[in-house]
Amino acid sequence: MHIGIVGAGMATVALLDALADSDAEPGEITVFESSSAVWRGRAYQCDQDSVRVNAPPMAMTARGGDLDHYLRWLQERPELARYLDEGLGLPVVPRAVYGQYLEDTAHIAIAGLRRDGWQVSVVNSGVTGFSRETDATLHTAAGGIFRVDRAVLSVGGGQPHDSYGLAAVPGYIHEPYPLYRRLAEVPADRHVAVIGSGLTAVDIAVGLVSTGHTGPITLMSRSGVLPAVQQRPIRYEPQHLTPENASRRVRESRDQVTLTLLIELMKKELSELGQDFGTLTDEVIRNDTEPPVQRLRRQLSLVADPHQGRRLLGRAIRAVVPAVWPLFSEQDKTMLRSEHFRTINCLSSPMVPHNANILLRSFESGQVRLRPGLQQIRPRSFAGFTVTDDTEWTADMVINAVNPPAYTVPQAAAGLIRSLLTAGSTERHPFGGLTTQPGTGRLLGSGRPDRTWYVQGNIASTSTFIATDPTGLAHEAARLAHALTAPQ
Ligand SMILES: Cc1cc2nc3c(=O)[nH]c(=O)nc-3n(C[C@H](O)[C@H](O)[C@H](O)COP(=O)(O)OP(=O)(O)OC[C@H]3O[C@@H](n4cnc5c(N)ncnc54)[C@H](O)[C@@H]3O)c2cc1C
Repeated sequence: MHIGIVGAGMATVALLDALADSDAEPGEITVFESSSAVWRGRAYQCDQDSVRVNAPPMAMTARGGDLDHYLRWLQERPELARYLDEGLGLPVVPRAVYGQYLEDTAHIAIAGLRRDGWQVSVVNSGVTGFSRETDATLHTAAGGIFRVDRAVLSVGGGQPHDSYGLAAVPGYIHEPYPLYRRLAEVPADRHVAVIGSGLTAVDIAVGLVSTGHTGPITLMSRSGVLPAVQQRPIRYEPQHLTPENASRRVRESRDQVTLTLLIELMKKELSELGQDFGTLTDEVIRNDTEPPVQRLRRQLSLVADPHQGRRLLGRAIRAVVPAVWPLFSEQDKTMLRSEHFRTINCLSSPMVPHNANILLRSFESGQVRLRPGLQQIRPRSFAGFTVTDDTEWTADMVINAVNPPAYTVPQAAAGLIRSLLTAGSTERHPFGGLTTQPGTGRLLGSGRPDRTWYVQGNIASTSTFIATDPTGLAHEAARLAHALTAPQ
């Protein structure tokens, strides 16, 4: 059997690792990657040290079912202890270092697969098309033609959109990564306006401050809300709020998943711990009501707080909701995505205390400010930009920090997806993404599972609208490895 895997980011590393662990009959695997960031993707390419991972080691494993796989890799490298995040009490390394972990994991997996008799090759060219006149065939940008039995779409989220139409304007930086290269274009004393106030905006502000930028930095967004601050992990195995329990409850009641069910499980979990639910609801409400710098300061003081509410909520959004997402009513899905996206995102993708401290100091010194109500950004006739929010003001440079939303088709995959739609291998789901069979990851065309194609990541219609994370992708990859190697 020949498996073609399109895309060589974190999800594919996890898939290779899971395939190496399976006892399937050996065959052939070809991995295709259109960029030079093989095994790293956009997130973990080489960059300056200030660009840190934004999660503790147990949340970044590339091996499904082994939460400590990455932690062990770190522990084997004592020199990385210098990246200790004092708030978390754990190392929070530069993202390029995590990229090294991914490279190592991929190389070990490939060596293991080859030892078991698999033929594995990596083709550094994008897949631009698919045809099935007789055999299922992948076509690459370099003119290569590869016949495959099964293929996996693992193309990630792609590049940001140019929402303000500024791509060609001098002084505008559209793709902020790698920061070391992009920030070299920014004179140290200029006023930099950053579009967005999420984790990428935090990366940019911290990156500028840590490389000696002296000019003002304005984070601007419609909401003016910052990500929450990550709390020190406290190991705890939930009894009620688990993917298995939520799925079982839904099966038993033969009903759709409702938010009420998940809230009930959360209440039970907290009550088991002797902790009140009100503390958690207060925190959720404050996300939209508390002044952001005050919230940043308060949450920094609560990094070691033993109340598990926020930790459990983050985990539920990342692990429980995805397991039952296809069973949510369309109405609940739409309501969560349209009305609560920001709150869910802020709480499930928090910033690490190391960055939160740098940001708080920069707010307090007045170098960084946050402005809500962003409406418009226009280039000025000679240089710089005019920004409109509740007033008009000017900036010398603008850097984009808004990432593509879930279900975006990366530019590098546009041709391939067009040919998959034409071949009837999949359809566009009305909610977003490509129609996918829940549980197996197979693409669905006209309601029937496609005999060649599988998918992982946010482009699948069965995934939630929250950006992917390593642990979630690693679990998905383990399930996919099983499905891929099972007899059809
Ligand atoms: C900037 C950023 C920082 C992040 N930081 C963290 C973090 O610190 N901690 C955390 O928990 N999570 C983080 N995440 C989230 C998470 O780790 C990523 O979502 C994850 O890396 C996604 O992996 P992937 O393999 O699905 O996609 P990607 O890493 O995007 O990889 C997909 C690959 O497919 C390639 N590709 C696309 N189309 C084609 C084609 N047609 N042919 C061949 N190749 C193709 C792309 O070039 C790309 O390399 C971050 C995400 C981003 C965007």
